Amino acid sequence: MLIQFLVATSTFLAVLVAFLLVCVRRSKHQFRESNLALRELSKLVDILPVQIRRVSQDGEPIYFNRRLLDFCGLEGLEQVQTIGGSRLATIIDSYVHPLDTGVFQEAVTSLSKGVPFSTRYRFRRADDVYRWLDVRGEPILDVSGTLAQWVIVSIDIDDEVRAVEALRESETQLRRLVDVVPANIWCSNPDGDPIAVNRRLRDYVGLEVNEYDEHRGSRREVAYQKLVHPDDVSAVRDRLSECRRTGEPFAMRYRMRRADGAFRWVEGRSEPFLDERGETRQWYGVLYDIEDQVKAEEALKERERLVWQLVETLPAMIDCAAPNGEPIFRGQQLREFLGYQLEELDGSPKSRLDATLDAGVHPDDVVGVKEHYAHCLATGEPYARRHRLRRFDGQYRWVETRAAPMRDDHGNIVQWNVICLDVDAEVKFEENLRLAQEALARASQAASLAELSASIAHEVNQPLSAVINSTNACLRWLEGETPNLPRAIKSAERIIQSAESAAEVVRKIRALFQQSVDVRDTTSLDGVIAEVRDFVAAETSRFSTTLEIDVEGDLEVIPFDRVQIQQVLMNLVRNGLDAMSSVHIPRLLQIRVYRVNEHVFTSVADRGIGVEFPERIFEPFFTTKQKGMGMGLAISRSIIEAHGGKLWAEPNDPAGARFVFSLPIPKCKAA
Ligand code: ADP
Repeated sequence: MLIQFLVATSTFLAVLVAFLLVCVRRSKHQFRESNLALRELSKLVDILPVQIRRVSQDGEPIYFNRRLLDFCGLEGLEQVQTIGGSRLATIIDSYVHPLDTGVFQEAVTSLSKGVPFSTRYRFRRADDVYRWLDVRGEPILDVSGTLAQWVIVSIDIDDEVRAVEALRESETQLRRLVDVVPANIWCSNPDGDPIAVNRRLRDYVGLEVNEYDEHRGSRREVAYQKLVHPDDVSAVRDRLSECRRTGEPFAMRYRMRRADGAFRWVEGRSEPFLDERGETRQWYGVLYDIEDQVKAEEALKERERLVWQLVETLPAMIDCAAPNGEPIFRGQQLREFLGYQLEELDGSPKSRLDATLDAGVHPDDVVGVKEHYAHCLATGEPYARRHRLRRFDGQYRWVETRAAPMRDDHGNIVQWNVICLDVDAEVKFEENLRLAQEALARASQAASLAELSASIAHEVNQPLSAVINSTNACLRWLEGETPNLPRAIKSAERIIQSAESAAEVVRKIRALFQQSVDVRDTTSLDGVIAEVRDFVAAETSRFSTTLEIDVEGDLEVIPFDRVQIQQVLMNLVRNGLDAMSSVHIPRLLQIRVYRVNEHVFTSVADRGIGVEFPERIFEPFFTTKQKGMGMGLAISRSIIEAHGGKLWAEPNDPAGARFVFSLPIPKCKAA
């Protein structure tokens, strides 16, 4: 529109100038003849919607028509100040825009050369606003054909110039927007032949739009062949032509060749632009490079596939439940174990959870399982329980079910993940093991008793044999013709001695088991310890063990059964040596005797393996040794307790175990 207007204006001006020239020429000829005609012409010149001026060959203004005077805010040309007899300089200074003085001067130069000109410059209006003028000048020749003056016609085109500038600016903005927008943009004619692409797309594919012009076919066909992956061409072509036919928007993912030759996944979308009559004028489209996204999606899919495979092939029965415990997924193993699909429970009046538990869990276990589930669902605590579960074949098998909640970033439970392991064989094995252990314990108790009985019998047997031997000897001395009474008496004395020995053994054994404390010597412990050291000397040297003994000086002598306390000490020392048998040297066993308040404490500390089952070692027949009886600590504790003291075990620093027993100091001595 604007361009048309400008063309029309220019044409009008050209015609006007020609008309004026004709008029001026004619008027010159007729000047003298008709003043009337001149006045009319002058009026006409003022009425015409153009600014007209006459200037000399040097550009010196001679005449301004009324419109021009009004534009400049002048009553008459004489108001323009003259400098050195010329008004031209004042006109340039006061009216021509400082940036356009060059253009103005060029026009003045044209005047001097007698060349018609057409130009544009900004001229100051009466309100001090510079406005664009379209200016044309034509020379006026006198009768002799010599250049006399110039007539210059100008027209205010400021509004149009600004409109064109605004249009150009908005066009530039639009182009910039289209180029800068992070998308590849194209436009095609209604047939789908590309007619414009933005800079991004041009750079992306490395082709200008005119490079699609080839003899081979239409622009769109060239674009398909050059840019679309061979495997995708026919799908893209078909879909685009379908969209052109129906007017539907186009959206598709396909591979496109980039400028460097690499094919990349893009998402293409386009829509038709319709005119007022609803007919397609053009198609506009965008292409997004989604290569990275597609790769990420593929990687995600692959990961999902792997995780899925993992879940399905894990040698465990897996299922997932909603936050309220309702099962939402069952792994293959669990489906196979139960023999029915989760969906088969739908339609039951019970919830899926209840239906699952009622159908599968052993009637004896179901109440406990439900209560436990309810508790975990309410508190969010993890669930772990063993119970029997019905297999597809009706057989109940022991399973261990563990469930843990999965939470979102805010800590809300979004899912329960459940794993169920078939531990039937393990449970049965454990049960068998327990039974076997009990049987073994009974057997070893019996064996221990047998061993104990044997050693008691052995102990008692010796004096009894001596009694029999001495009795026989005594009889022999008496049965002779002359009984040898002194000898018989000697034999009888030996009988008594041996019988007393046997009685002593029996008494000691009874004392051991009945915790008798009948026979108590009031003695010091260091003597007992010294005897123990002598007893175990051979073993300590064989095991390269250092035995350190530290008995606090000036300890009170206290009453205790020497034999029993020695037995306790022997037992503790032997245990210590045993515990160090498997450790590396240096092996160190420390015995300390010290007093604290009303007790004398004796500790036996080793650097061995430490006590493995501290809560069980004092139980009778508990042993971790292959040839142990498990009676030593039990008897020792009874002995110490029978003496009014205590025996306990604690970890030794830096390693091993420390057994301590206390013996009370009688009140009168302690005081
Ligand atoms: P036995 O020596 O026949 O096993 P004990 O009653 O003396 O019977 O010991 C019972 C168990 O206590 C031992 O089998 C052993 O496991 C543990 N025990 C005893 N003394 C020590 C020790 N000093 N260090 C580590 N364990 C010990």
